Amino acid sequence: MSQSSPIKLPNMSNYWMPFTANRQFRSMPRLFKAAKGNYFTSIDDRQILDGTAGLWCVPAGHGRTEIATAVGNQLLTLDYAPAFQSSHPLAFEAAERVAAYMPEGLDRIFFTNSGSESADTALKIALAYHRVCGNPLRNKLIGRERGYHGVNFGGIAVGGIAGNRKAFGNGLAGVDHIRNPLDIAKNAFTKGVPADGGVALANEFEQRILTLHDPSTIAALIVEPMQGSAGVVVPPAGYLKRLREICTQYGILLIFDEVITGFGRLGTKFGADYFDVIPDIITCAKGLTNGVVPMGAVAVKREIYDAFMEKSPAGAIELPHGYTYSAIPIACAAAIATLNIFAAERLEDRAAGLSAYFEQAAHSLKGLPMVKDIRNIGLVAGIEFEVIAGKAGAMAFATYLKCFEMGIHVRFTGDIIAISPPLTIEKHEIDRIFNTLADAIKSVAAAGEVGLDASNYLKNEQVWAM
Ligand code: PLP
Repeated sequence: MSQSSPIKLPNMSNYWMPFTANRQFRSMPRLFKAAKGNYFTSIDDRQILDGTAGLWCVPAGHGRTEIATAVGNQLLTLDYAPAFQSSHPLAFEAAERVAAYMPEGLDRIFFTNSGSESADTALKIALAYHRVCGNPLRNKLIGRERGYHGVNFGGIAVGGIAGNRKAFGNGLAGVDHIRNPLDIAKNAFTKGVPADGGVALANEFEQRILTLHDPSTIAALIVEPMQGSAGVVVPPAGYLKRLREICTQYGILLIFDEVITGFGRLGTKFGADYFDVIPDIITCAKGLTNGVVPMGAVAVKREIYDAFMEKSPAGAIELPHGYTYSAIPIACAAAIATLNIFAAERLEDRAAGLSAYFEQAAHSLKGLPMVKDIRNIGLVAGIEFEVIAGKAGAMAFATYLKCFEMGIHVRFTGDIIAISPPLTIEKHEIDRIFNTLADAIKSVAAAGEVGLDASNYLKNEQVWAM
């Protein structure tokens, strides 16, 4: 921090920050003023290595001129076109490009403005699909424990993070949850993968719908192929395949929420590609525009789209759903520019090529004080801490603050630190992230409770964030 020129902080009275302990923040503001490549510049002129690709959303690195130019030009050419009953050519081009990037067959694209909107859109499409096909009683939605599908009412209902739901009343009816694969997660050193590859756990879904519901009443199952917010939970190979089989057997739509796993994070285009399991619907956002313009997308199998087109009354709006900013021109321009970067730089392959190195670096933290488990896949890792009695989340939050002070940006969620750098990260930067994280963990653990600068945060019940 420069001694000569005092930092001018903004007036922080008016902005109500999302998923933030606002009172704690004001006592230790963490403000960025610029970003380029894999680094932020903080308001006190420090270079902060971005260990989280923003909020998992900047896979191609910051400050990409290709995207900035495309967005700027678009703003001066066509800033807005009404999204309902009219459109603009770039929306169709963006949809064509997104469809080409999706797994085979998921080539009908509905645009939203965020991952939360994509989740709710996908759930609504699933419900409406069964209705249009003459099955209105298929109206239940199933999610998983600790699942995160954004913050809108559909998403928090199927989501399994109680802290994100309990402040908001009753939510949606007709929703149930199944267990997640945390206990059998790949790369975990707590328990490990069972010999059946996760089939027995997936079979619990079948048992549950047979005993507690009636499978013919289930509209959709929504899962993240790799659970991000739950702390990087990677299912074993057979788990998603078995869920796919069960959904197919009972006519249930399988939705993959790929808001985090889409766009190269696992070393493949989507998690569906990584696990070789094709869902009926994929939701995405974040990396779609490299995080610079809000945009999400819901990709559906052609048969689903065709059902709406063929079975809805002639002349009717087939899906009464959409947003003022669906496919806004600048978002389309940003998405196309981002997909051009992915094509030119093969960022998924780059992530795959670095993943073994990244895995080794992540697992070098094994044995450090308080480290309970480490899970990873592609360019994402979750470091789980022992819970301090009565202080859930305190260790991770204190470690996050320490890392920020030491010049790297990491993410905390519950008792977990998540690392998910831009896919443009270099090996020496991977080393720096994990070496700094190791030092931060040691320092926080050594300081003990005195060092856990999380008192305001802990007063806030919301310990689970994105
Ligand atoms: N779904 C998943 C799997 C996510 O990880 C997130 C955000 O992290 C969302 C949905 C919500 O996305 P957004 O914050 O853009 O609404």
